[in-house]
Amino acid sequence: MAINKIYESLASSLEDRVELCETPTLYARDFGNLIQRQPKILAHVRSEKDICDVLQIANAYKMPVSIRGSGHSCNGQTLTTGIVLVHHQVSEEITPISILEDGNVLCPSRLTWESLERTLNKHNRSCPVLTDHLETTIGGTLSVGGLGIRSIQYGAQIDQVLKLKLILPTGKAIWCSPEENVDLFRFSLGGLGVLGVIESVILKTIPYKPHSQPVIHDFCNSIDAVMKVEEAFKNFIETAEHTHNPDWMEMALVHSYFSPAFNPRIRHSHEFFLTDQNSSPSASITDYPFIKANATKAFSNTLQNYKNIWCDYLLLPEQALQFAKFICKIASATQFFSCPFCIYSLAVKRPAYAPSLPLHPAPLKNTLYISVGLYCGIEKNDSEAQMKVSEMQKIFSQLLDFCIVLGGRPYVWGEHCLTHALNQKIYGRDYDRLLQLKREHDPNNIISFPNLWLSTCHQVM
Ligand SMILES: Cc1cc2nc3c(=O)[nH]c(=O)nc-3n(C[C@H](O)[C@H](O)[C@H](O)COP(=O)(O)OP(=O)(O)OC[C@H]3O[C@@H](n4cnc5c(N)ncnc54)[C@H](O)[C@@H]3O)c2cc1C
Repeated sequence: MAINKIYESLASSLEDRVELCETPTLYARDFGNLIQRQPKILAHVRSEKDICDVLQIANAYKMPVSIRGSGHSCNGQTLTTGIVLVHHQVSEEITPISILEDGNVLCPSRLTWESLERTLNKHNRSCPVLTDHLETTIGGTLSVGGLGIRSIQYGAQIDQVLKLKLILPTGKAIWCSPEENVDLFRFSLGGLGVLGVIESVILKTIPYKPHSQPVIHDFCNSIDAVMKVEEAFKNFIETAEHTHNPDWMEMALVHSYFSPAFNPRIRHSHEFFLTDQNSSPSASITDYPFIKANATKAFSNTLQNYKNIWCDYLLLPEQALQFAKFICKIASATQFFSCPFCIYSLAVKRPAYAPSLPLHPAPLKNTLYISVGLYCGIEKNDSEAQMKVSEMQKIFSQLLDFCIVLGGRPYVWGEHCLTHALNQKIYGRDYDRLLQLKREHDPNNIISFPNLWLSTCHQVM
């Protein structure tokens, strides 16, 4: 059988890091728990050569491959019935991180952000933007964007990439930057891996500032949920637009609402993080990104028994407000707020130095965007789970349509039903260019995506 031949070829290169999947595997699902696809083979790669070998063997047998970092996507982006190329490594021992003379860093993208940030901190450097989940891989977030509390100042993680090594779907390795292989550079960042595996990257870093002062405003504990969302949004947008106090060395903004069913302790808050080396230790928190990431990890661990329908949408402030009103309208007419849900927003402003990236969730530089995240959970063993998921997906589909009407973009790691027509509306000619690059560099369509960019519609299990 071909599958045994493929397995043997892979094993002759990767040895015991190849697995035949004869029984159900965790790699058949992602964080969303909405879609299930049983792969035939898992290939745990540890080097550029491993990746090239896997892709060349897959091409020889025309076997589909998906790239998987830590699998935190929601819509089957890492799932396949072929080979899962597992590009995820928690330890730096095998493939080290190099701090360059100019303070920037060269690192393999299968490492987690946590390992990178800890290494950088030891050298008094830091990543400009960290998401609130540091167990994700560098390659995994660079394939979607990477937004965090410092995005108001530094944009996304993809804005920090100076150079990347891409292993094309045919198994050929090339360096890409704004100067060489320009389109592959521009389209692989935020490109969900369709143009190949980002094997390593050179990233910008900034000086490490360990102390932060979170300033948290809790409000709206008793007004009904719909009113809270709208009011909080208005407040958030105004604050994001008008507060940039030059006395603060850094500022970030986040706004969150957790429904009591998700998290009884947190209600509604605006948080600012002032990073100031002069702040007295008693008033400050040390290494806030790790504290925040631990909280996110604990929260996400409670969601393993949920079907997680999570989406973020990026809009200009005025449109974000209209979007918030639309959320309220839909919510009051549906069961939306009866499920555990969370709304999480970030202010995003890309700096002047950011490269031009057509698939960026916030396409313009020097422009304030509001990222509106709606995260909803439905318990797997709820007898009506399937019906509730379909209902919720209809709501999210309406939200996506309205976001696009308002000129916004969905953040592609989440649960979105992006048809060919919607992709054309959102990305215009850039989508045609992406398809052209795909045809050119992946003639056998090895890295094939049943969802999102190159698809029609997803299938819910
Ligand atoms: C609890 C939770 C909290 C989150 N918080 C944030 C947040 O604060 N900010 C934010 O921006 N996002 C956040 N996310 C979204 C998260 O950043 C994305 O899901 C991200 O893609 C996860 O990285 P991963 O390693 O799990 O990638 P995966 O889910 O494994 O992969 C994501 C996509 O990238 C592709 N891919 C993976 N590695 C590579 C590679 N090396 N080269 C090319 N393609 C590759 C995959 O094929 C897939 O299409 C959160 C998600 C969860 C579940």
